[in-house]
Amino acid sequence: MILCADIGGSFIDFAVVKPGGKLEHRVAVPTPVDDLETFVAALVTLCLPWPGIPLHIAIAGVENPETGIVHAANIPCLRQAPLRELVKKKANRTVLIANDADCFALAEARFGVAQGHNNVFGIILGTGIGGGHVLNGEIVNGLGGITGEWGHSPVVLAPPFMKCEPDHSDVVPLFKCGCGQSGCLDTIAGARALERLHLWAGGESIDSRSILAAWERGEKQAERTLSVYLSYVSASLAHVINITGGRILPVGGGLGNSRSLIIALDRAVRDKILYPTTKPLLVQATLGTEAGLLGAACLISK
Ligand SMILES: [Zn+2]
Repeated sequence: MILCADIGGSFIDFAVVKPGGKLEHRVAVPTPVDDLETFVAALVTLCLPWPGIPLHIAIAGVENPETGIVHAANIPCLRQAPLRELVKKKANRTVLIANDADCFALAEARFGVAQGHNNVFGIILGTGIGGGHVLNGEIVNGLGGITGEWGHSPVVLAPPFMKCEPDHSDVVPLFKCGCGQSGCLDTIAGARALERLHLWAGGESIDSRSILAAWERGEKQAERTLSVYLSYVSASLAHVINITGGRILPVGGGLGNSRSLIIALDRAVRDKILYPTTKPLLVQATLGTEAGLLGAACLISK
């Protein structure tokens, strides 16, 4: 068995994961985001009843494999912290850490909808967007610990480089992204981004769920928003598939609860990839909130 913690900006979701993926002793505690000592102590306390059992962590951040430094935008106390070493010493056990979207992809490949596939690209359409690439049952690990980040690097270009209406009314604005750049897909594809896109497209200030519901009802304004959304997101995913060869793309996150969105996105993606297929590639993920914990349990030491 493995102790697993899925750490986000609000909660630490903790469980003992048994062989076969059964979760026991699951508990959630608030994430201490401002104080590193309190943060480490919270993990040590959760592990106390199981001395010596390894702790595997899925985190909304990334660990640099060369330096061991973790960067997690929503957990400021981890800034420049070698988290794995700190927890290993205090909790006296093996500790492994991976990005939560990577863990999501790994879990869906091992226990979820992508079981039996050796090339899986898991995508999160949540508040923001993320992803993970799993090849032959293992997370593909890139430079600085980064892979699967299909949402970051600019896809929206500044007006002089685009053919557009004289008033630029057909051009998606260059929104600032949390990663420091402008025009990333993340500025269009996440739930908050969809709400902003809807406003830009002339819609009302409503939440992403209402936008999708209006789109499903065939309302004109939401259709305009979604046509922009789908064209950008599907183009990026077509690149992802052409490059990775991903055979199946489990979709998680809040927007991933919309079956209609996944179906529309899947069709748009399959229209753009080099190898046409009639079989859906984007499918709804099946593990829900357990994915981070289950993926963490599957991490292996390198
Ligand atoms: Zn970005």
